[in-house]
Amino acid sequence: PDETWRAHVSRPGRAKRTLVVLEDLTPVRRAARARSDFLANASHELRTPLTALSGFIETMRGPAKDDKDSWDRFLAIMAGETERMSRLIADLLSLSRIESSEHVSPREREEFRHIVSDATHAFSAIAAEKGVNLVVKSDEGPLPVIAHRDEMIQVVENLVSNALKYSKAGGQVTLSFGMAPGMADARIKAAQSWASSERMTLLPAAGRPGTQERAIWMRVEDQGPGIEREHLPRLGERFYRADQSRGGKITGTGLGLAIVKHIMAHHRGGFSVETRIGEGSAFGVWLPAAREDEPSD
Ligand code: ADP
Repeated sequence: PDETWRAHVSRPGRAKRTLVVLEDLTPVRRAARARSDFLANASHELRTPLTALSGFIETMRGPAKDDKDSWDRFLAIMAGETERMSRLIADLLSLSRIESSEHVSPREREEFRHIVSDATHAFSAIAAEKGVNLVVKSDEGPLPVIAHRDEMIQVVENLVSNALKYSKAGGQVTLSFGMAPGMADARIKAAQSWASSERMTLLPAAGRPGTQERAIWMRVEDQGPGIEREHLPRLGERFYRADQSRGGKITGTGLGLAIVKHIMAHHRGGFSVETRIGEGSAFGVWLPAAREDEPSD
């Protein structure tokens, strides 16, 4: 659009030449817009539980002062709102830490298998409580990566916790991972490959320029509701929540996938989603495997 172009035109006067500098401001405007949207969303999301809390405090001090029977119910709601707020703050902190550490924090040689087991051990209890069958499968052999351990753990946690959250009792969540001969193969492995499903690459992998390198892939599949096609391109945007979860019983911050996307970009990896309405979703990530001689940062 015209307004995104700014022209500096020197006054021609009697000069024979005119210099015109055209500068594309679209990325600058987009970044400024994203920042102000983010602040507006963050403030709104924090204010919502606060408003609920202060409303209940008022009620308990005022009209319901002597209605001790209702207090338990109010306190349970207040505890839920407090938990929602701390989750939101924890996610915001992670996101800002990840963004600001993009070029500084060191990466170490890690075994991907250990990352997955550290991330998933807490989920077996949650899955059992919900009546969901959590299955973990992997290729044999070492799966070395140069990675931020805590960040990669968070990727696994966010994807598995979403899969469990959107699963119903009796459903299954399958986490698979392994090694592929190249980034492109890893990307294929990370997808479920259902026939006639919707598929979207949320982050194209960068890898190392000019190398055909081995890569680690991981796929988290569920048998949940699936995600409508129109939402797919926006998954991974901060605070974006697809319609079926807005106003529904399933709570969340809309930051989990944004965090995954950032971390995978940070690891020169990729991130994709594949989904079929009524049948389930499969989230996949992949990143370069560590070379034998590759040092930590
Ligand atoms: P939230 O905290 O809302 O789960 P996320 O960033 O993790 O935030 O996810 C963004 C949105 O993507 C969710 O609100 C939900 O609509 C959709 N989503 C994520 N994972 C799944 C899944 N496994 N099944 C269905 N929908 C999902």
